[in-house]
Amino acid sequence: MRIKIASVGEPVLRDAARPLRQEEIGSERIRELIEYMRETLADAPGVGLAAPQIGEPLQLAIVEDKAEYQAKLTAVELKEQERHPVPFHVLINPEIELLSPPEVSFFEGCLSLPGFMAMVPRARTVRVRALNESGAPIEIEAEGWYARILQHELDHLKGTLYIDRMWSRSFSSVENYSRHWKSKSTTEQRQHCRPAP
Ligand code: ZN
Repeated sequence: MRIKIASVGEPVLRDAARPLRQEEIGSERIRELIEYMRETLADAPGVGLAAPQIGEPLQLAIVEDKAEYQAKLTAVELKEQERHPVPFHVLINPEIELLSPPEVSFFEGCLSLPGFMAMVPRARTVRVRALNESGAPIEIEAEGWYARILQHELDHLKGTLYIDRMWSRSFSSVENYSRHWKSKSTTEQRQHCRPAP
């Protein structure tokens, strides 16, 4: 079952999500919710989805960056973005620690802001401690694009959207991104879009 994704302006996207209680983790309701989120993410398609995006104010997010999504990127883009396939996994009640300053900017988008993109400075490396769908503790050290996905999704659980962190001069429709920015090098994109000093 696919669920409608909440778009910007929905209050649930701006509230802090509540942690899942121990007895909820692994329950029928939460297992179903994770399955619906997985189907919704694959259908969108996207690389991450947080529960508030389907109207559930819970500290629950999923990530999956399939190899097929990366097939359209050039070798240079893959290397620059440090992007590799990430298997499907679930994050419950996560805590994130930035292991480097948030100063690597690339264009990113969000399923809750369909049709738009912007350059967002993010940390290159992060550490996340969370529980998996069975309630077992997990610890992830991620870098590159995977670290970006984690920062983006875990922001959702605090009511933060990429537009709160973006270089506002880079905010662009996907159409205009394709027309004017996609073919430019990352260096050029950053030069044009960096905030004025
Ligand atoms: Zn998002």
